[in-house]
Amino acid sequence: MLVKATHHAKVCYSQPRIMPATKDCPLCGGTMRPRDVKSVVHLPGNPSATTRVSREWVCPDCDYFEEVEEES
Ligand SMILES: [Zn+2]
Repeated sequence: MLVKATHHAKVCYSQPRIMPATKDCPLCGGTMRPRDVKSVVHLPGNPSATTRVSREWVCPDCDYFEEVEEES
C-alpha cells in the first residue's frame, strides 16, 4: 500500500488586499497597467508645493485610464 505524501498548500496572506498586477480595459479588453501619477498641489499660505502621488490604470492600447479605487 502506497502512502501518499500529502502536500498541504498553505496559503497565508499577510495582506488582506493584494493589488492585481494587471486589469482588463473595459473599452478594448486590453491589458491595463498601474501607473503612478504625481500631481502638484499648491496650498494657500504654503510656498512649497506638495506633491501628491496617486495611482491610475492606463491602457496602452486605447489610452483609456481610470483612477485606482482605494478602499479604506
Ligand atoms: Zn483599452
